[in-house]
Amino acid sequence: MKYVGAHVSAEGGVQNAPLNAFAIGATAFALFTKNQRQWFSSPLSAINIKEFRANCEKHDYKPFQILPHDSYLINLGHPEKEGLEKSRKSFLDEMKRCELLGLDRLNFHPGSHLNRISAEDCLKRIAESVNIALGETKGVTAVIENTAGQGTNLGHTFEQIKYIIDYVEDKSRIGVCFDTCHAYTSGYDVKSPEGFKETFAKFSEIIGFGYLKGMHLNDSKKDFATRVDRHENLGSGFLGEDTFSYIMNDNRFDDMPLILETPEESLWEAEIRKLFSLVKK
Ligand SMILES: [Zn+2]
Ligand SMILES: [Zn+2]
Repeated sequence: MKYVGAHVSAEGGVQNAPLNAFAIGATAFALFTKNQRQWFSSPLSAINIKEFRANCEKHDYKPFQILPHDSYLINLGHPEKEGLEKSRKSFLDEMKRCELLGLDRLNFHPGSHLNRISAEDCLKRIAESVNIALGETKGVTAVIENTAGQGTNLGHTFEQIKYIIDYVEDKSRIGVCFDTCHAYTSGYDVKSPEGFKETFAKFSEIIGFGYLKGMHLNDSKKDFATRVDRHENLGSGFLGEDTFSYIMNDNRFDDMPLILETPEESLWEAEIRKLFSLVKK
């Protein structure tokens, strides 16, 4: 079964996210469990946690339909001690917040080498950061997002993602989130039918579908292989509708959160309806 939603607002408290998702007809959702522009936020209160769980239950959102996203400030491959330590501490806090909310996965952008260490050293550092966080939490899978490869961001090739996975000790708690916009601008053709087929054959061969824990369904404002990360609403960008039709009709993408991170929020409800309408009976 397909579960589709958007990265909804948690303004006023995490408990509002499932309500915001339900209001737009979503059967999946993403959220920030804290202010994404800050390193640390006040802890979740007992009321936040209780109401979040109650609202998820009321609208039938199970953990496998929910894909929390970590703060954009975190760089788990940071080349310098101070930045790395701060990132690791903040990431662990985010993992613990997910644990408290009863969530089973946390989506993160792998990290950037900032031209100060090699890509390989950075990838190893990221894996070590994940190992530390997994060692201090239970039940939450760290989900690596493929990136557009903008600047010095790593995770724009399947090989880099696989490299991180190889150095993670607990393979049962490492996963991958596939972002369609990032894939396209990093140089994976998910637009043509042949390209889509080939991209996921490679994904299967290099990473493996067992690791796929969610997807970000975004069209792209930038063209193929530009390595720029600019999302566009579905059908209005360089990808167009077909990519999303392939996904909606492929059971390899069943039973995981399929999340819109498209810029115009007022279109989400229509985009969710559109995605479900693409399913061929
Ligand atoms: Zn994304
Ligand atoms: Zn993006």
